[in-house]
Amino acid sequence: MITNFSYIDENYRRILENVNDSIAKYRNSSESVKVMAVTKFVQPEAINHAIGLGIDTLGENRVQEYLSKKDLYKSAEMHFIGRLQTNKVKYIIDDMALIHSVDSLKLAQEVNRLACKHNKVQDVLIEVNIANEETKAGILPSELKSFLQEVSTLENLKVKGLMTLPPPNSGEKFLAKMQELYIDISQEKLDNINMSILSMGTSGDYPQAIKYGSTLVRIGTALFGARNYHI
Ligand SMILES: *Cc1c(COP(=O)(O)O)cnc(C)c1O
Repeated sequence: MITNFSYIDENYRRILENVNDSIAKYRNSSESVKVMAVTKFVQPEAINHAIGLGIDTLGENRVQEYLSKKDLYKSAEMHFIGRLQTNKVKYIIDDMALIHSVDSLKLAQEVNRLACKHNKVQDVLIEVNIANEETKAGILPSELKSFLQEVSTLENLKVKGLMTLPPPNSGEKFLAKMQELYIDISQEKLDNINMSILSMGTSGDYPQAIKYGSTLVRIGTALFGARNYHI
């Protein structure tokens, strides 16, 4: 068990520097990009250290792990980014400011039903399977518009944008494709669909993701080091 977390200071400093470099190089200087800390397999003390440095948004992948750790976290905005089974929505619906991983109508309907029951409007992103990978979750690009039209009728669910996780080491082509899709959908101005968040970029590609319009990067390894799957 690690107890000295000063390595996170240096990692975080480098991440901010890379984010700011990418914004300066590729984006309008008035734009900002949110840096989320991805918490899977990371001990709560390390997460709290990152919160102490200024991280204000946490990304949770796994319901069980989240439930076992959440009471130990300092205060932060909670986002769900992992695959979400419909029968587990009830455990997280009260806590999540944003669910990034809505990837089916069945899940959207269950989130809507429980949000209604809990008197909230749940902000969500739609996960896009940008590379049409067979084993990956997410809505296919060709089906995105009709999917959005369907979920736009759900009254306790508010679509705020899109999320994607391109295949590892696939370079920039899927980031570019995702940006194109995001802009296309924004320009459609679909009723009740808001396109203000593009959640794209992880430790391996966040500077490039920012080049292609990401507004929120999800960082695990580059912040906390390689995951220890045995904790
Ligand atoms: C694990 C994970 C990340 C972070 O990946 P790193 O390579 O550790 O930065 C981002 N998004 C999702 C959906 C993840 O599951």
